[in-house]
Amino acid sequence: MSKKIIPVKQPKHGLQVTQASDIQAGSTLKLQADAVVVGSGAGGAITAYELAKSGKKVIVLEAGPYVPSEKFTEMLAISMGTMYADAGGQSNTTGDISILQGACVGGSTVVNAALCFRTPDYYLHRWGKEHGLTNLKPETMRPYFEKVEQHLGIKAVGPNETSAGAELIGKGLKKMKLPLGRARRNVKECVQSGFCFAGCASDRKQSMLVTYLPWAVAYGATIYSDTRAVEVLAESGRATGIRAEVMDPATGKVKAQLQVDAPIVVLAAGPVQTPILLQRSGLANSSGQVGKNFACHPTLSVTAVFDKEVNDFHGATHSLYMDRNTLPEEGGYLLLNAVQDPVEASFQVEPGTGKPYVAYMSKYKNTIRLISLIHDKNNGEVVWENGVKKINYDVDDEDFESMKKGLATTCKVLFASGANKVYIPSSQHLEINRMEDVDAAVASLKNERARYRYTSFHPQGTCRMGADPKKSVVNPYGETHDIKSLYIADASLLPTSIGYNPSETVYALAHYISDHIVKA
Ligand SMILES: Cc1cc2nc3c(=O)[nH]c(=O)nc-3n(C[C@H](O)[C@H](O)[C@H](O)COP(=O)(O)OP(=O)(O)OC[C@H]3O[C@@H](n4cnc5c(N)ncnc54)[C@H](O)[C@@H]3O)c2cc1C
Repeated sequence: MSKKIIPVKQPKHGLQVTQASDIQAGSTLKLQADAVVVGSGAGGAITAYELAKSGKKVIVLEAGPYVPSEKFTEMLAISMGTMYADAGGQSNTTGDISILQGACVGGSTVVNAALCFRTPDYYLHRWGKEHGLTNLKPETMRPYFEKVEQHLGIKAVGPNETSAGAELIGKGLKKMKLPLGRARRNVKECVQSGFCFAGCASDRKQSMLVTYLPWAVAYGATIYSDTRAVEVLAESGRATGIRAEVMDPATGKVKAQLQVDAPIVVLAAGPVQTPILLQRSGLANSSGQVGKNFACHPTLSVTAVFDKEVNDFHGATHSLYMDRNTLPEEGGYLLLNAVQDPVEASFQVEPGTGKPYVAYMSKYKNTIRLISLIHDKNNGEVVWENGVKKINYDVDDEDFESMKKGLATTCKVLFASGANKVYIPSSQHLEINRMEDVDAAVASLKNERARYRYTSFHPQGTCRMGADPKKSVVNPYGETHDIKSLYIADASLLPTSIGYNPSETVYALAHYISDHIVKA
């Protein structure tokens, strides 16, 4: 049954959120709800909306701060400090993969590049065969993709929304006779600032902050920011609520205690924190799979230098892709153009100081970037050890071969686009100066730890979905095998990496799981 929209008092900046500053220091809050949702990103926001719309009283707990769009600085260095997990410093234990996640009201959707792909049928079929997810057939999932595409205005970038670098890369792809895919994004009338990763100050990006969260609030949901869930509560095999701590964002210290009693608990804290929450609570792990099967789509961003200024600063962060080789059997890599601001651009090639840094950055206007993203095997693990989070993950030798294929194609496309030099992001300076040298240079690369400067934007897989309770954490409808009415609705669910940017998969799965929660 659908509920009437409750008018809420709109604060100046649009979204009603209870923040740490609204809560008295030292207090203990006891709240009751029909459902408590942990995390307000892609999965959490959609679940909160769907449950609130069905008439349930929903409370959303978000560990990160509430940063309204008018406070977005359009400077990555600053937004990393305020809106990213570990101030942008989250990495694997080897320290060679920067694992980026949003940590604010709206989660990673606030800082993501808004590029959207439906889950390829290939994976839906594979999940059916290998993980018993025969319920997630392409025809079953289609209405969910359509729904989210409509809600978020997902559509192909217009000719006016591309970037100077993408135009050049498009020409390179044509020369190489490679197919050009036009990016689809959850952006309405892109203002083309090129600052997606720092948050879209114009609100054109249809992140959860400006879509599903306000819609959920309009249906009566309440959002607590600065509020970190620390324990899932359960009794006699049933979820009963969440214990959380309200943190003072200025000091990082616990300011107050908060408990939500609710018969439905949905975890959507993302694929690093959701398994940690379960590990800390000692729940839902009879399979031993909680935190296991971590994958992250490692990417390497190749920088190309041109003789002339390109000024690749404005336009869609990603406007094109090349996916001829994306399925594992066809190479396992995806190419994406990327507009990158100076901080990101410098750490790929020359993050140091002094002359080399100045020499490189003084040519920043002449550079563009093309990313290789790989489908990786789920061989990592997130663990909570002595109060510390660890992401034990290294690029597998076989996966590194996919990366090498991706790098070779990337470099060739960039030379075909007119570049006179390309840099491979590596801790030892690695540049290639001619198309003819690409194959030999890439063939000589070894899969060494702490050698390459990887970035991951897509952690996933740590509470995988499946029919077999011995091999998975949640059942095909998102409920944990072990604990009744404890659901997971975030990127932790993905049983394998999908080789494409996963936000639309998370959106669609969250819608699908919400339907089952409402019907249960
Ligand atoms: C910089 C960047 C660029 C990206 N670009 C793209 C793109 O172009 N296309 C695409 O498809 N995908 C992209 N992604 C990935 C995409 O945004 C994520 O896959 C998706 O948002 C994951 O959804 P989620 O619900 O699992 O987690 P998130 O959206 O990350 O939300 C999780 C939320 O839970 C909160 N949380 C964590 N722990 C707790 C706790 N204990 N208590 C309460 N709250 C907690 C976090 O603060 C966070 O807000 C990008 C990601 C990043 C970081």
